[in-house]
Parts: sequence; structure tokens; C-alpha cells
Amino acid sequence: MIRLHDTMVREKRDFVPADPNRITMYVCGPTVYGRAHIGNARPAVVFDTLARLIRHEFGAGSLTYARNVTDVEDKIIAAAEAEGVDPSVITERYERFYLDDMGALGVAPPDLAPHATQEIGGMVAMIEKLVELGNAYEAEGHVLFSVPSDPDYGALSRRDREAMVAGARVEVAPYKRDPADFVLWKPSAEGVVGWDSPWGRGRPGWHIECSAMIRAHLGETIDIHGGGLDLIFPHHENEIAQSRCAHGGAPLARYWVHNGFVDMGAEKMSKSLGNVITPAELLTQGHRGETLRLALLSAHYRQPLPWTEALVAQAKATLDGLYRKVGDAAPGSVDEGVLDALRDDLNTPLALARLGQVEDPTTLKASAALLGLLCEDRSNWFTFFAGLTLEQGRSIDQRIAERAVAKANRDFATADRIRDELKADGIVLEDGPGGTTWRKE
Ligand SMILES: [Zn+2]
Repeated sequence: MIRLHDTMVREKRDFVPADPNRITMYVCGPTVYGRAHIGNARPAVVFDTLARLIRHEFGAGSLTYARNVTDVEDKIIAAAEAEGVDPSVITERYERFYLDDMGALGVAPPDLAPHATQEIGGMVAMIEKLVELGNAYEAEGHVLFSVPSDPDYGALSRRDREAMVAGARVEVAPYKRDPADFVLWKPSAEGVVGWDSPWGRGRPGWHIECSAMIRAHLGETIDIHGGGLDLIFPHHENEIAQSRCAHGGAPLARYWVHNGFVDMGAEKMSKSLGNVITPAELLTQGHRGETLRLALLSAHYRQPLPWTEALVAQAKATLDGLYRKVGDAAPGSVDEGVLDALRDDLNTPLALARLGQVEDPTTLKASAALLGLLCEDRSNWFTFFAGLTLEQGRSIDQRIAERAVAKANRDFATADRIRDELKADGIVLEDGPGGTTWRKE
């Protein structure tokens, strides 16, 4: 049984999907106007790991995982204007970078990646419904959600009204009936990206995008809705209000799962604070994506994760040891200790500790795969860090294979000669339970 901490009730609950054959999970995805930083990568890695666990527990085809791409937004428009290009040039570029960066961290693409610009019809339909029901109103070309029309507003963030108004940092707008009301649709000026709507040419607010895409692709009520802690208010609160009001009170999600921040020193890593490190920079510095993934999983997902050079160095050393141990083993069965740790609200620090104790290479291989680790070829790992080309690495592997054959034939003279020849090239062989590995002297 998987247990998940549900932000709505502030405690761990048994995860019982509505339909175990069709589990639905939605995670708020990137706004594509700049390179993702390590803090942005954390939810991608965390929910990729949760998806692996759910598929292990309920079956490979049990889960539909959707992560949206926000490709219409004011920051995108500003970036396009700054470069003098169409917004699609910006969004296509940074979506490709995002997928490359997350791919390097071993994040599998989600099953569905709906794009906001492709889903305007569904958003307009939902906004029309909210207007019709009296939960939204038009004012000066804008459509706003009326927060006082929803008596249950605020249940997820548990904020009182004053904190909500302050926290929403809502701009003073004379057309708002209530300061907490938020934008569903806004007008687009001449030359700015927009779509025709019953309220004139304009574009959607950010919050309605997720509500409409969840409805279109996964249904009115999904099993798991995920994202970073910073999305609880106002984004997820607003998603909940829009969806519940439009769907006759049906809850948007049955479990709300939120990851903590990556910190730089005493502060949260964020673009607005200018203290970001990107996976792209770290990869250029010679780190492997897998090292960064392990570093991101080294703290429990709900805890803050201080990002330091020592953390990355530790992750690399851990992987060196694990790759040495796993050798070329094929995946066997999963270790129950690793599995139990992950089932308990995705306790990755405990799962990693257990993983370090697994001695059988086939069990190690299968258990690590649940965390998205040890998925690459062992020789690629060591070749990369030895500063050798893949071809040189393959030639070492070839020599190791020849030595294994010689040893099997009890031709120890040949086996020793191969070892000595490699040693003369600075390559030291190490025989272990998973076979023979090598390192540079
Ligand atoms: Zn969202």
C-alpha cells in the first residue's frame, strides 16, 4: 500500500485510486520562456519517481500522467518582444531545452503534455460556464472569478481572507468587484497574441489553463494533483475553485502532493532572486544527469533541499560505488526494503540508504530502477569520468570479456597478461560480485 501526504488534510493517507486500472495524475509543468533551474527540476524528478512507483504497484499501463506546457503567458510575450520574434519561437526553443534537461535527469516524458495554446476552446467553454453559474463576471474586457461566490475557497491553503488578499499580490484593478478575484480571461492589445472569445480578442489567465486541460484529458476528478509548494496559493486554490464550481461541486483532486524548495544558502532558488543553478550549467561542468537526480532525491520531497557542491560530490561518490557493485547485472526482483521506503510517502532518503545495503547485483539493478537510477550502462558511467571516449571504454570492455573467457578456460597466463596490459595503460581491474569493473589509476 502506498501512503501519500495529502496537503488538503495535512496528513499521510493510504493511496486508494478511484480506478486502479486508470489512475490519473496531473503536475503543473513549465512556463517555457527560460532555462529550467535545479529548483524547477525537483518536481519533475519527484513526480517521475512517484509515477515509477505507481506503475510498479498497479501495473505498467495503470497510470495516465499529464504535465502541461504553459506556452502563453506575459513573461513569454515579454521575452518574444525583447528578441523581436514570435512567441512560438521562444516557447518551442525552451520546451525543447526543458525536455533535454529533464531527459538528462532520467525524467521520462509524461503520457500527456497538453499545450495551453492548443486548448483555448476548452478554457473559453469553462469560463462561459462559470459566468453562467454566477461564479465569474465580465468587466472591461476581462473575465474574473468571483471569490466570494465560492464559500469553500481557501480550503487547501487554509488562509484567512486577509492573508489571501495580501498573498495574492493582486494588482489594484478598478474593475474587480472584490480584491481577491482573479483573472480568467484578459484582453490582448493589438499585436499581442490573442484569440477571439465572447469577451473580445484576448488570452487566458494561467489558472484556468490547468482546470480546463485536466477536464479535457483526465476528467472532472483526478487521483493526484502535484506541484511545488509555492503553487498551493494562489494557483492550486484557484484551480480548485474553478473546477469545483464548474463541475457541480466535484472535487478536482483526491490527493494533493507538493514538493519543497531547493535552497541556495538561506534562500529559495528562484529566478526572481537571481540565485539559480541550471542542470544545463552543471552538465557543462562535467556532472552526469544521474548525479543530479540522486542529489535531488537525497532529501525527502517535502523537505527543503539545500543545494551545495558537497551534495553533488556525495551523489557522484554514491553512484560510483553503486555502479561498481551492480556491474552488468540484468534487473531481478525489487528489494522489499527499498519498496517499503518508497511506499511510505516516497521516502527516498531511506530508500537510498536501503539501496546501499543491497548486495545482490540483479536486485540492486531492479531496485535502483524504481528511483530512476543505475539505468545506464556501467561502462558508460566509468568511461565518462575517466575522460575516455566511448570507443576506448568499449575496447576496455572487450579486453575484460576476453579475460573472462580466458579465466573460464583456466588460461590464467592470458588472463594475467590482459590485466597487466591494461594496467600499463593506467586501467585497474576490480573483480566483484557483479563481474569485473575498471577504474583509471
Ligand atoms: Zn496548474
